[in-house]
Amino acid sequence: MKMDDKELAEKFPIIGDIQEGKEIVWINPDKTDYMESMAGSELTMEDVEDAEKRLLRFAPFIMRCFPETKDRNGLIESVLSPISKMQEHLNKKYGADLLGKLLLKQDSHLAIAGSVKARGGIYEVLKHTEDLALEHGLLKEDDSYEKLAEPSSRKFFSGYTIQVGSTGNLGMSIGIMSAAIGYEVVVHMSADAKQWKKELLRNHGVTVIEYESDYSEAVKNGRKVSDENPKSYFVDDENSRNLFLGYAVAAKRLAGQLEELQITVDEDHPLFVYIPCGVGGAPGGVSFGLKQIFKDNVHCFFVEPTQAPCMLVGMVTGLNSDISVQDIGLSGQTHADGLAVGRPSGFVGGVMKPMLSGEFTVKDANLYHYMRDLLDAENIFLEPSACAAFQGPIQLNQDNDTRKYLMDHGLVGKMAQAAHIAWATGGSLVPEEIREEYKNTYLD
Ligand SMILES: *Cc1c(COP(=O)(O)O)cnc(C)c1O
Repeated sequence: MKMDDKELAEKFPIIGDIQEGKEIVWINPDKTDYMESMAGSELTMEDVEDAEKRLLRFAPFIMRCFPETKDRNGLIESVLSPISKMQEHLNKKYGADLLGKLLLKQDSHLAIAGSVKARGGIYEVLKHTEDLALEHGLLKEDDSYEKLAEPSSRKFFSGYTIQVGSTGNLGMSIGIMSAAIGYEVVVHMSADAKQWKKELLRNHGVTVIEYESDYSEAVKNGRKVSDENPKSYFVDDENSRNLFLGYAVAAKRLAGQLEELQITVDEDHPLFVYIPCGVGGAPGGVSFGLKQIFKDNVHCFFVEPTQAPCMLVGMVTGLNSDISVQDIGLSGQTHADGLAVGRPSGFVGGVMKPMLSGEFTVKDANLYHYMRDLLDAENIFLEPSACAAFQGPIQLNQDNDTRKYLMDHGLVGKMAQAAHIAWATGGSLVPEEIREEYKNTYLD
């Protein structure tokens, strides 16, 4: 039986604050230690390694289709950089009081798609491509995958369709990669999707279907249309294990980058990660990967907009994907188009339940402030969605619940040796005139 929202607010007092659109901090009471969290997990490190190897097999093909990936030998990877000026700025302007080292993981600048979706989205398209190619004898074991860039391969893939529902960035990553391989591509865009993202896709030959409804509807209809065509494959952001694993590969590479920066993560050197969350796949996959490597020494926090905190509402109530933000009276509407999701992935909610440390929510107005803060301090541009990440480092030491979390986990004395990663999830493809518009956006 479903509870009505009054009952929910009585049972979970924080729901009242969420309903009022307040910025909240929530510590996950269901988090266990790493060993216990993996006991019932359907995915393991082996699955992540399998995905990593697949991306390596495709590297020669990616390098051939996207020469901008040459620097990294066909791997789509972003830099991790210390942002000490931003840290100083956050401490001064917002009283963040953040010790240790603040870093920015610039998935905003990932090749090909300019967002974190270049991980999961592209991985899933490649996985499907490999499956088809092996099944139809286009590839044999030991073949270089560069073969897939030849006209005969393109002709083969043009007989197949890839479809996806998207608020924008997932559509761009799936659309650009699928078009490069030769597929017919249909992207079902929710009302929140920005016009320039639709235009960019159409310029790649992608069919864009626009919806006046939200993300869940776009997904639902996209799935239905795709299922009617036996040669069509639907990338299911709400349930896909492949997307999730594509995101998870980030973690192993990050471990190498931390080492290069001589940043230790161990019992005395905790790592905090703050990731903007929409349906949950990207932050869930990245966090899952990080947990495999750093186990109890990494503390993962998601950040969502105050009007679309779908993962938070699912986790707080335990109803997971059986509840939407509209069910508790929120609009689901936000300037953070990448996070404009009303109902979370049930699959990700289940995996993260024992792993997630907690959540922050952030008002849209602050996304623009943080965006300008980062531009001023470090001269790095992120899209508003990505700036949600900064709510974590700003709030961590200011909120009673997070302070209690630090105490409960014996972290208080270790904060001077901590690393904090704000996961910058998108931005480099935003056109100049839209950037200007963002820079001048001030909300209440
Ligand atoms: C998609 C997206 C996210 C969140 O990813 P989900 O898998 O939807 O949770 C965060 N930031 C940006 C910029 C995105 O496009």
